[in-house]
Amino acid sequence: MIPFLDLHKINARFEAKFQDSFQSFMDSGHYILGTQLDAFENAFAAFCGTKHCIGVGNGLDALRLILEAYKALGKVKEGDEVLVASNTFVATILAIKQAGLTPVLVEAETTYFSFNTSALKEKISQKTKVIMPVHLYGQIAPMEALLELANTYNLYVIEDAAQAHGAMSASGKRAGSIGVAAGFSFYPTKNLGALGDGGAITTQDDALAAMIRKLRNYGTSSKYVNEEIGFNSRLDEVQASFLLEKLKYLDTDNKARQSIAAQYLSEIKNTKITLPNWDGTQNHVFHLFVVRVLDREGFMKFLKDHEIGCLIHYPIPPHHQKAFPEFSQLSFPVSEKIHKQVVSLPMSPVMDSTQVKRVIEVINRY
Ligand SMILES: *Cc1c(COP(=O)(O)O)cnc(C)c1O
Repeated sequence: MIPFLDLHKINARFEAKFQDSFQSFMDSGHYILGTQLDAFENAFAAFCGTKHCIGVGNGLDALRLILEAYKALGKVKEGDEVLVASNTFVATILAIKQAGLTPVLVEAETTYFSFNTSALKEKISQKTKVIMPVHLYGQIAPMEALLELANTYNLYVIEDAAQAHGAMSASGKRAGSIGVAAGFSFYPTKNLGALGDGGAITTQDDALAAMIRKLRNYGTSSKYVNEEIGFNSRLDEVQASFLLEKLKYLDTDNKARQSIAAQYLSEIKNTKITLPNWDGTQNHVFHLFVVRVLDREGFMKFLKDHEIGCLIHYPIPPHHQKAFPEFSQLSFPVSEKIHKQVVSLPMSPVMDSTQVKRVIEVINRY
């Protein structure tokens, strides 16, 4: 069996280091907001090329807290609109709604699985304050066009970088340093994954960073002095110490993903399979390798019969989810097609060449 993702194998590589980290964590007696978190925040900010990194509880909170902080700073207010792609993961939309803002869904396109730019333009209204692009599947969204629109209409571009740790744009900027702020997730399956939940915000903006630091910790800047209606969302010490260790290998791991992707792209030859677009640069770190196929059910059964794991990211478009009745009348033909056709193939830095060859060979026989 070739698993879709072997998380145990990914983390087993760090087991000895994690045991050391755990021992010092245990010895320190300090579990929340301590030296390990400081060290990880500094290292991740340096890695992304931003002035600030603030560790929080998870990726959903990271996105929400950026919006909550802008609200507390008076830059956005309840009811303001946030443009978001209609094929994103549901957490992007939840973050916007939880912050009291209004998500406005935009039709997708299939080259970057990002916004259709002309559809995006049509959705800009008096109330639009934010564009929230998602670097879906690990590929940086076409940011130039978005930044230009944001500049023209005075909008904040907030990146959902939860799938794109380490990806780099053509201009040499890492995911997380392109917009005004970015939310990351360290959910175990992500390219930089913790052994539990975790998230972070990166930004160059001093005022925003200071507000997020308050909001993640009950709205206090010094103990028992409350300045804001805050939250409790902190990245804990033990996860920060594991992430600090794994961060050292993130670029190497992403290169391993890229080399598997390059092999899939050159050796999968089957007219029934539409391969993803990639220009061969660092702008894609292949969190997922997503192909499209018309008879998805048949293809997935074929893979299963040949003991190859696969998953769907994602099967139901947000506007068809019961949680969002306000979107139920909307129609996004491209996005709906994406949700009907996509299949994610096995992809991880610990797949060996025999496994990669086997996946290719089986798919070419489909
Ligand atoms: C994983 C993910 C999130 C949410 O992160 P959690 O840590 O699971 O809360 C948000 N957006 C995208 C695109 C994701 O892939």
